[in-house]
Amino acid sequence: MSLRTKIVLALLLTSLASVTLVGVVAYQRVVTRFTDMHLAGARDSFRANVQAYVQTYGSWDAGAAAEPFAAFSQRRMGGGPGRPGRRPPQENGAGPGMGSPGAQLDGPAQSERRTAPPIQFLVFTPDGVALTRTPAYAIGDHVSTDDQAGAEPLRVDGRLIGYFHPEGQVNFSAPELRFVGVARDALLGACALAAILAVGAGLVIGRRLSRPLRRLTDAARAMQAGDLGQRVAVNGRDEIAILAQAFNHMAEALARDAARLREISIRDGLTQLHNRVHFDEQARMLYQRAVREGRPLSLMIGDIDHFKAINDRYSHAIGDAVLRQVADLLRAALRPGDLAARYGGEEFVMLLQDTGAAEAAALCERLRQAIAAADWQEIHPDLAVTISIGVSGDLGQDGPDGMIAAADARLYQAKADGRNRVCAA
Ligand code: GH3
Ligand code: MG
Ligand code: MG
Repeated sequence: MSLRTKIVLALLLTSLASVTLVGVVAYQRVVTRFTDMHLAGARDSFRANVQAYVQTYGSWDAGAAAEPFAAFSQRRMGGGPGRPGRRPPQENGAGPGMGSPGAQLDGPAQSERRTAPPIQFLVFTPDGVALTRTPAYAIGDHVSTDDQAGAEPLRVDGRLIGYFHPEGQVNFSAPELRFVGVARDALLGACALAAILAVGAGLVIGRRLSRPLRRLTDAARAMQAGDLGQRVAVNGRDEIAILAQAFNHMAEALARDAARLREISIRDGLTQLHNRVHFDEQARMLYQRAVREGRPLSLMIGDIDHFKAINDRYSHAIGDAVLRQVADLLRAALRPGDLAARYGGEEFVMLLQDTGAAEAAALCERLRQAIAAADWQEIHPDLAVTISIGVSGDLGQDGPDGMIAAADARLYQAKADGRNRVCAA
């Protein structure tokens, strides 16, 4: 799963969870608020009815003998048996008149009466004898101590009539139900909107977050494949920027190390001239170019005369110093585009671009003289060093190896002719 998909999913889940939580809490609070309002209204209305009942008949018992409380309440609230739009009163019970919450909350929607039974009130004497009928008790029944718990005192003119508590469920009126329905629909709409927003935001944020990471992974892959020149943009100061910075530092260090290793791999440690491997590689390229473009190319091999004797007479260290100084003189003779290398123990090679045999021979002669005339006494008072050189300016058919073989043959000739000389043709 891509990082972007994960971000989209995370945002989607988070927003849906929060919208659902907020929605459920808000919905519950609306319902609880309505229920509390209904109960408060029903209680007030019930108390007023009891007050009127006792005041009308003098006492509850006198009232019960004359007219059931339910019928009295019904009459008092303006309803009556058989009236249109009203439920018939419940026999001897606490009917709708006994605190119908609709009286407070229905407002203009009087015709939209609820059909389910409204809240009823269980009334019982201080001794626990039921005075109203409910689904659980008939009038005169003893109310269990469990049901007595939490009941409110019922007083008329300061006199305790008994206790009461509401029973049954609050029924919402049609407008209230519509309101709750609208709230629920709005909640579902908000969920859908939040989901759309979350997916959109997730795609945008996911792209913004994953783009620099993708660049980093691409660069890391390219580096793994050997391209050490990889660098990524560093934007901002977040973790990705820190990672990008670290990557760039790593890539730079790797490229530096690789360059140093490569430099080491193509250099001769003693003289710092190129080594034979590098010379052979470059010589092939330069030879092909010279053939392709029909340009002259010359190759020389120089070999220090009686070098073994120098080692033997003065020490190996002095032999090394001689090798280094010959290399310095060779370097000094180089022109741009020339390639020089230490080819073996005390053998040196040079490939001279755009240079014919005669010009190469002249250059080698100057080099020979420079070596013979160098201040060798600095290394050892008795030291003298000369070099013999063979030159080939014929491209031939056998590539650079053919040129080396030809130059080597001339070097052999120079040695045979008495050393300290250049043999060119
Ligand atoms: P010639 O004039 O015929 O070339 O005689 P030469 O003594 O120079 O030739 P030879 O091939 O007999 O000796 C080459 C010597 O170079 C032998 C070897 O010990 C020495 N040599 C090779 N590499 C090094 C090196 O790195 N340092 C030192 N000091 N000596 C080396
Ligand atoms: Mg030799
Ligand atoms: Mg030699």
